Amino acid sequence: MRVLVLGAGVVGVSTAWFLAQAGHDVTVVDRQSQAANETSFANGGQLSVSQSEPWASPDAPWLAMKWLWREDAPLLFRWRLDPQQWEWGLRFLWECRQQRQQNNVRAMLQIGLYSRAAFAELDASLALDYQRRSQGIICLYDQQQELDQAAQIARVMQQYGVERQVLSTAQLIEIEPALKHCAQRLVGGTYCATDASGNVRLFTRALAEQARQQGVAFLFGHRINALEAGGDGRISAVSVTNAEGHYQALHADAYVLALGSFSPLIAATVGMRLPIYPAKGYSATVNITRPDAAPEVSMTDEAAKVVFSRLGDQLRIAGTAEFSGYSHHLNPIRCQALLQVARAWFPEAADYDHPQFWSGLRPSTPSNVPFIGRAKGWHNLFLNTGHGTLGWTQGPGSGKALAEIISGHRPACDFPFTGL
Ligand SMILES: Cc1cc2nc3c(=O)[nH]c(=O)nc-3n(C[C@H](O)[C@H](O)[C@H](O)COP(=O)(O)OP(=O)(O)OC[C@H]3O[C@@H](n4cnc5c(N)ncnc54)[C@H](O)[C@@H]3O)c2cc1C
Repeated sequence: MRVLVLGAGVVGVSTAWFLAQAGHDVTVVDRQSQAANETSFANGGQLSVSQSEPWASPDAPWLAMKWLWREDAPLLFRWRLDPQQWEWGLRFLWECRQQRQQNNVRAMLQIGLYSRAAFAELDASLALDYQRRSQGIICLYDQQQELDQAAQIARVMQQYGVERQVLSTAQLIEIEPALKHCAQRLVGGTYCATDASGNVRLFTRALAEQARQQGVAFLFGHRINALEAGGDGRISAVSVTNAEGHYQALHADAYVLALGSFSPLIAATVGMRLPIYPAKGYSATVNITRPDAAPEVSMTDEAAKVVFSRLGDQLRIAGTAEFSGYSHHLNPIRCQALLQVARAWFPEAADYDHPQFWSGLRPSTPSNVPFIGRAKGWHNLFLNTGHGTLGWTQGPGSGKALAEIISGHRPACDFPFTGL
């Protein structure tokens, strides 16, 4: 089958790889000059199945209200005259109910575990170099009440076979000696040994290169304008503008929408409403100056919602979510807030005076559960989008699952695939 994959982020490239492995004739289209140039460029680096917790929870509305006027708040809604944003907000409130939260945790875990297996398969067969560290992930707590809540979450994860354990400060320091510098502040933490970290950009580009060698075609520098409906419940073409500014219609047997935060804009061209909204996040990348004072194990400061991953000789610090439309603007207060958190935990680790800041738009659904599967009402349009906070963790598994669906197989994953 000829398949057009729209989008060359980690999700699109993973889908293309597994489609090619299944024997399809695959072309990937993207407006950028290479793969992983947008949200899959400089994220937090965590492969964190054990953190499959949706933002939408019974506490979330109160937290969002509390943070409403704080410029450095971890989660910040900037309400605009934007119906897409308001509709998303209402759906988010709906997902905050306890029953919905439980379902969403389960779905996120299932696709996360499927993805963990897909990573293992790729690591074994391709040996891609993406600065992977398979040393687990620690979550840090400096308040007993938060640690107690984390213990409850850890129990939920354990029910699904994800070993997130509650550990004392001394046990954490044994796993990550760099924490001895801030032992006074810690009340304890959680640890999941089977989580990992790595560089999403290196992974995506290396996998794209492997896919190219297997015959996948990449049309970079092509802006996708619209899907064209054929009138029989089928997409007949995708209209694009190439680097020279010429319009073209691209035809295939099946089409995969993997455009991250921009998927709803292109879906709307055939009347489909996808509840995906960009949640802007920030990262700072700094050079490590004292390797012994920098963490080797990836970490999350749960209260600040900031993550740390060691990528080669650099430390990646990432976090914050700002619902303010499609702007990539870097707010200096939020940039500094990231560095402050890092300085407080690991003061000697890195050169915090020369950070590289970046922002990316997480393609967020109200439930944090992505859309994977056949688009409702269409025979040959497939979705792989809306991965929000965990697109790196879930990307390869989502790509594998969708390739299976397109090939007519049911993935061995208990996830609410669309259209199945
Ligand atoms: C600060 C931050 C930290 C994060 N940390 C983590 C983490 O630690 N762990 C984790 O699992 N996830 C993390 N994430 C989330 C993760 O990075 C995303 O979920 C993931 O990168 C989304 O991948 P994607 O392929 O769906 O989208 P993208 O990478 O954005 O890919 C979409 C592609 O579509 C292309 N495109 C869009 N519109 C058009 C158009 N009209 N025409 C042509 N091409 C188009 C873009 O150029 C892009 O290449 C983080 C995100 C952020 C912002």
